[in-house]
Amino acid sequence: METLGTGPLPDALARVRREIVGCHRCPRLVSWREETADPDGWGAPVPGFGDPAAWIFLLGLATAAGGGDRVGRAFTGNRSASFLVAALHRAGLANQATSEHVDDGLVLQRAWMASAVRCPPPGNRPTAAERSACAGHLEAEWAALPGLRVVVALGGLAWGAALRCAGVRPLPAFAHGRELPLPTGTVLLGCYHPSPQNTNTGVVTGSMLDAVLLRARTLAGME
Ligand code: SF4
Repeated sequence: METLGTGPLPDALARVRREIVGCHRCPRLVSWREETADPDGWGAPVPGFGDPAAWIFLLGLATAAGGGDRVGRAFTGNRSASFLVAALHRAGLANQATSEHVDDGLVLQRAWMASAVRCPPPGNRPTAAERSACAGHLEAEWAALPGLRVVVALGGLAWGAALRCAGVRPLPAFAHGRELPLPTGTVLLGCYHPSPQNTNTGVVTGSMLDAVLLRARTLAGME
């Protein structure tokens, strides 16, 4: 069994992880990551991270350049990660309030976090073809987390990725706080992305994120 900081990974998740890390499907993103990657960094697509028994999936759009891609762990080492993991800690879903590097001791409890597009795209904008190419990894990871009860989509593009993954057509519009039961049996919950662009301008605040995570806990049957 492989391990991921939180203990052994079940075989299905370990298989998904290997497929993601070895993926070269998107020529533009493979070139971009090879050109821009820190030679001492991760240099590969970034799989999800968290508790294999997760009930709540935090889904972002794309791996951040200069964040998770440097270390190979989702939502690590940048300001979005700091904002999100501090909120996860307040919500009782993480053992600590910081996410700085792979050996920082972060353990998620009943939570999993990943991006829908696992390689950092130029300008943080993956093309439709790249989003489509990476959808299979999200489907496989989702399927390997059989306990999932709630998917928190961080932003409209993550919302769309989750809906496509669940086979919902046409796509209902994203809204912060919107809840949508999915055919998979999970509930999709919308939340503005905790990017500096949003947190610096008050589009999303710590208390707004706390309220979403509290609702996610309730939907997951944790209170
Ligand atoms: S974005 Fe996804 S599908 Fe494209 S190369 Fe990276 S891991 Fe593969």
